[in-house]
Amino acid sequence: MLNAKMLSLGTTRSCIRELFEYGLNQARIVGADHVYDYSLGNPSIPSPSGVNAAICDIVTHESSLAVHGYTSAPGLSEIRQAVAQDLTQRFQMEIRPENLFFTCGAAPALIATIKALCIERASEFIAIAPYFPEYKPFVECNGGTFVAIPADTQSFQIRFPELEASVTPKTQAVIINSPNNPSGVVYTQDTIQVLSSLLTHKSQEYGHPIYLIADEPYRELVYGQVTVPFIPKFYPDTIVCYSYSKSLSLPGERIGYVLVPDCVTDSQALFAAVAGAARAMGHVCPPSLIQRVVARCATLRPDLEAYDRNRTLLYESLTAYGYECAKPEGAFYLFIKAPGGDSQAFSERAKQENLLVVPGNDFGCPEFFRICYCVDYEMIQRSLPVFQKLIQQMP
Ligand code: PLP
Repeated sequence: MLNAKMLSLGTTRSCIRELFEYGLNQARIVGADHVYDYSLGNPSIPSPSGVNAAICDIVTHESSLAVHGYTSAPGLSEIRQAVAQDLTQRFQMEIRPENLFFTCGAAPALIATIKALCIERASEFIAIAPYFPEYKPFVECNGGTFVAIPADTQSFQIRFPELEASVTPKTQAVIINSPNNPSGVVYTQDTIQVLSSLLTHKSQEYGHPIYLIADEPYRELVYGQVTVPFIPKFYPDTIVCYSYSKSLSLPGERIGYVLVPDCVTDSQALFAAVAGAARAMGHVCPPSLIQRVVARCATLRPDLEAYDRNRTLLYESLTAYGYECAKPEGAFYLFIKAPGGDSQAFSERAKQENLLVVPGNDFGCPEFFRICYCVDYEMIQRSLPVFQKLIQQMP
């Protein structure tokens, strides 16, 4: 006998991975220049140069036993101190090293947080469409109930009447992701203020805190003058899940953290529950070498020029052809209304032209498709006639 939930998760096809594999195969058949793969969100800008320099220096000059050894579970004191100091300075809110639990990226940070908040009664976790598809298994595999709020498909901000109607006495947390994967939209300060007052009100009504889980792997990826509000300053019961996968282009190195600020209700107990949840999932420590690197690079930010150039070319060209899409201000995705209204059908049709785009079904928006523009500029240029041809042909 096997765990049916796990078997189902392990055998369900990942549409994104499947498209990516298809692209690799097609490249062998028709040549890489004739495949336009927008499927996978793998950063395409190199890590800031300080990152590789730090790796070389650490490997050359620090004790190899220490560099490759176990660290304490929440992370080395130097990474906790460096990141706490950086956050304190940037957001003018005191963050202590003891508020930070380092994990192997945002995904384990989210699961540890959700697991820590899943209590015996069927705990409900609300996500706002479009949402990162993994939230659903993260919640359900910990015994929780996943509740989705439909998207505001014009602005991709939050539909508050629907959110308010969905909060119940069993709601443990609302999960938000801004800058957003897949829409690229950044929640405005106004949105965050309305959200905070709604949750404050509901927490009072039900007599327990409703936590806000802010999933922020794209915090540093914003364009122009856009700023990302630091959510704990607006809503005290906020837990931040962060990752260096995108900000330092280190997705394969697996490093991120859970931030439980002091303003969270019972913050020390919650921090301990996060540590316990991580332990229950086999967390020992994040990779020791990369902890040392982040400790030295905590103040480095990515150079977004290449992403911004891709974003501008795609947004301007596709909207000129007649595609509809909210202007993305962050992350590296565009979420576009599928001509004909069925993103799966559009994705299948595009695949015939070797244009690989992800249908929005798993993000909770079946009428939209996602493209990741962390790709070569030249590939975008080559793909534009295909986008144009498709919209002309679709009903
Ligand atoms: N949350 C969102 C919204 C993401 O897009 C991703 C990765 O793409 C993650 C979490 C997981 O990030 P990590 O690689 O740090 O586990």
